[in-house]
This record gives sequence, structure tokens and C-alpha cells, in this order.
Amino acid sequence: MTTGLRTEVAIDALRRRLRGALLFPGEAGFEEATLLWNGLIDKTPALVVQPAGTADVVASVDFARDQRVALSVHGGGHNIAGTALADGGMTLDMSRFRGVQVDAAARTATVEAGCLLRDVDRETQRDGLATPLGFISEVGVAGLTLGGGLGYLTRRFGWTVDNLLEVEIVTADGRVRRAARDEHPELFWAIRGAGANLGVVTRFTFRLHEVGPTVYGGLIAWPFERAEEILDAYRELTASAPRELAVWMVLFRAPPAPFVPPEWHGERICAMPVCYTGDLDEVDEVLAPIRALDDPVVDLLREQPYTEMQSYLDDSEPKGNHYYWKTEYLAGLSDEFLSTWRELAAECPIPEAQLGLLHLGGALNEREADDGAVGNRDARYACGVIGSWAPGEPGAEAFPGWVRGAWSRTRHFSTGGNYINFQTADEDADRIRATYGAQFDRLVAIKTRFDPLNVFRSNRNIRPGRHDIGSPDGEP
Ligand SMILES: Cc1cc2nc3c(=O)[nH]c(=O)nc-3n(C[C@H](O)[C@H](O)[C@H](O)COP(=O)(O)OP(=O)(O)OC[C@H]3O[C@@H](n4cnc5c(N)ncnc54)[C@H](O)[C@@H]3O)c2cc1C
Repeated sequence: MTTGLRTEVAIDALRRRLRGALLFPGEAGFEEATLLWNGLIDKTPALVVQPAGTADVVASVDFARDQRVALSVHGGGHNIAGTALADGGMTLDMSRFRGVQVDAAARTATVEAGCLLRDVDRETQRDGLATPLGFISEVGVAGLTLGGGLGYLTRRFGWTVDNLLEVEIVTADGRVRRAARDEHPELFWAIRGAGANLGVVTRFTFRLHEVGPTVYGGLIAWPFERAEEILDAYRELTASAPRELAVWMVLFRAPPAPFVPPEWHGERICAMPVCYTGDLDEVDEVLAPIRALDDPVVDLLREQPYTEMQSYLDDSEPKGNHYYWKTEYLAGLSDEFLSTWRELAAECPIPEAQLGLLHLGGALNEREADDGAVGNRDARYACGVIGSWAPGEPGAEAFPGWVRGAWSRTRHFSTGGNYINFQTADEDADRIRATYGAQFDRLVAIKTRFDPLNVFRSNRNIRPGRHDIGSPDGEP
């Protein structure tokens, strides 16, 4: 952001309108407000506002629009591309918006935009209710939802946005709008999958479902030498599993964790994170195909609270590590894909990397292709080559290149779609277009109407115009 007398005057005016804090680099609290999960990202906003209410959000949007600076929102700060921060622009740190109101009778939860997943799960589980959210509890609800959202409950209830009933949003003109199927339906349609492009959402209302509070699952793993057998069994299991059963498949080196026998630390394994949210009387029958794969190295499957299920993998993705991923959606698991996947896992030179498969097929496939901008209604699995390493790790310069090489060997198995929330900063406009497929042009028309100056461009931007993706200071 270029500063000058005009900007100084505008900043003074903004400060007078705010109830919350206005922070500049170097000031107390600035660093904490701009912390990102991915330590690989190096971005610094010119100023941060910590809104204390919707009026502060309106003041900030007015400022960003009038001063022609990019505005980003820091929800949970987990976006791998670091889109939570507008480099040289303005960032809203929503950490003071953490309220959750559950209406158990109506089966809805109204959630403020700074909530992490765990905030919502904790409150809704008091009544044995939940909405589909992700499986790492420190991720932000806002970023996850606005890009679509997936998790263990997706097979039963669809994308997170399939369960979104309404939002309160501050659009680029500074107006506070309610968007739902019956009010601003086009805006609501676009928010359900491309929401970061359209304004600052201050509040979400979700539909809730009966889940838990006790569910069954955890992690179970076998030696990598059995990968062919385990992957075949995974394909067979997921082809017929009831929707209450969500099973992921991860090929990686076992961490030196207390639950892993010491002789397996650092050895390659095939692990299944398992979550069963159905009738507990049927769990033995449902999990029989997994149990039939005897002699596991690790078996942590057990009854547990749903909130534990939603957080037991938190330590697997530590904050501040360096991360570089590539992911795709798949319609099925062909022999060729599975053997490529096995080869890649055997060759992978990144000690902490994971090759992951998520089983998603079910409710999401039953909706119309254009039900929300999220699309990808043909996705039944997601696959991801997840590179992760500690800052300064020797040889790390080569890791992103290896991930890209692995991705190039698997891309042709893709549906052609991919998840916007898993894109890294170097993915180009074609990748963004591929996310939205046939919905893209409709989306751009809505974006142009509600954000003609592209104030909301610190994101996977659907209308980058003259400036480059990731270059938030370009003139709109
Ligand atoms: C460890 C890890 C695990 C993950 N697991 C899952 C998973 O299980 N399921 C899943 O679906 N995804 C998952 N993701 C991906 C996740 O959905 C995205 O990283 C998402 O962007 C994170 O949301 P956030 O609020 O933390 O993001 P942030 O980085 O804070 O923000 C991301 C984007 O959303 C915008 N934004 C944030 N809040 C608002 C708002 N209120 N209004 C408008 N725009 C806003 C920001 O400007 C930015 O562009 C995971 C990511 C990580 C790193």
C-alpha cells in the first residue's frame, strides 16, 4: 500500500470509526494476528484490523475499496497459499468473532466468522449434533466453508456448503446483506464454493444433523510391504461401505509417536484413519473388512467422543512447518492409479510426506451439478501428495519439485476438478477455472456485479484482470 497524505487522513478516519484495534507492522499483537499455518509463506499486510463487530468490518471494507487496497480475511490462517494475508494490503483478523449459537430444536447453528472447527463441534455436540466440517480442529470455519468444505460427514450430508442455510456478508459496497436461497440467491449460490471472492462473511448458519456424541474410529496401520493388498482392500471396502463409514488411506513414514511401536518409527506404513458415525451395535459388522486385514502395526480403533475424532490428527500437521501439496478429485480408483500411487509412496524422498486418499462419495453426488458454485459433483475420492518438512531441513529445495513430479504422474486420473481450498500459491488461473468448471462464467458475472473493483483479490481470485494472481496491489 502506498502511503501519502491522503492515505494518512483516511487511516485516521478509519481509526475513528473502529471499536476494535488497528495494528501496523512492529506493533504489539501484529505478529500474532498475522500468523499462518504454512511457514513457507512470507507476506506482511500494511495494516491489520481486528473487528469488534460488523460495523468495524463495514468501515474496513469502505477503507479498502476507497483506498484501492486489497483486503483479506484471517479466519483460521490455514490456507496453504497464505491467502489469509494481503501482502502490502489490509487484513481483517476475525479472532474476536468466536461465538456459536445452537438452536437444537431447529437443528441449526449460527457461527461467527473467527471460529475454528473445534469451536463449532464442541458447541453442537452438547446436543449430539454436527454439520460436516474438516478433520483438523484448528482450521477456520470461514475459509473451509467458503471454498466448499469436506470431512468425515461428507459422505452422509454432502459438502459443508450443502448444509449452509444463510450468511451475513459485507459486500464491497459496504452493505450488510443476508444471503440465502430466498434472498440474494445468486450471491448465495456463488458464496457456496467461491465465498472468499465476494465479501467478508461475518456469520454463517448451518443445518445440523444427529451425530454421536459417541462414534467409533481412529487409526489403524499395516506395513508398507502389504500396500498392494491394503490398497485393493481399501477400494473394495469403499465401494460398498455405508455412508456412516468414512475411511481415509495414507501412505507415509510412521512418526516417532508414543502410539507407534519403536521399531516402526520412520518406517513406511499404510494407515487408515477411520470414522464410523452409525449405529454402534453394527460396528463389528461394518468394520469386518478392515479387521480382516489382520496383524496391524498400530490399532487405535475404539469408541470415542466425536469431538476427539475431529481432533486426534491435529498434531500430524504442525503449525509453522513448510507445506507444499498437490491434489485432485477422482471418480474411482483404477488399477493403474493404485499401482502409481504405491510406486510414488515407495520412491518419495520427503521424510514427512503423506500420500493421502479421502473417500467422499455419497450425498454430494446426488445434488444437481450447479447446486452451488462448489460443483465437483462427480468427485468420489480426493487424492493428495502432501509435502511437509521442518524449516531449514537439508535438501528441502528439491521437495516442491518432487511433489510436482508426482502430481504430473497422477493428474490424468483426475475428474478434471480439484478443491480450491487445497491449491498452493503457484497454481495458475487455469487451475482455478478447472475447480469451477462449467460454473466459472456464471461465477465471474456475479463477482463482477458485487465486487467490480476486485477489492477481494487476496484469494484464489476468479477475476484477476490485469494484475497477477497473488499480486494484491495491482489496480483493479
Ligand atoms: C492442516 C489442514 C487440514 C485441513 N483439513 C481440511 C478438511 O478436513 N476439510 C476441508 O474442507 N479443508 C481442509 N483444509 C483446507 C482448508 O479448508 C483451507 O485451508 C481453508 O482456506 C482454511 O480456512 P481458514 O479460515 O483457516 O483460512 P484462512 O487462511 O484464514 O483464509 C482462507 C481464505 O478465506 C478467506 N476468508 C477467511 N475468512 C473469511 C470471511 N469471514 N469472509 C470472507 N473470506 C474469508 C481469506 O481471505 C482467504 O482468502 C485443511 C487445511 C489444513 C492446512
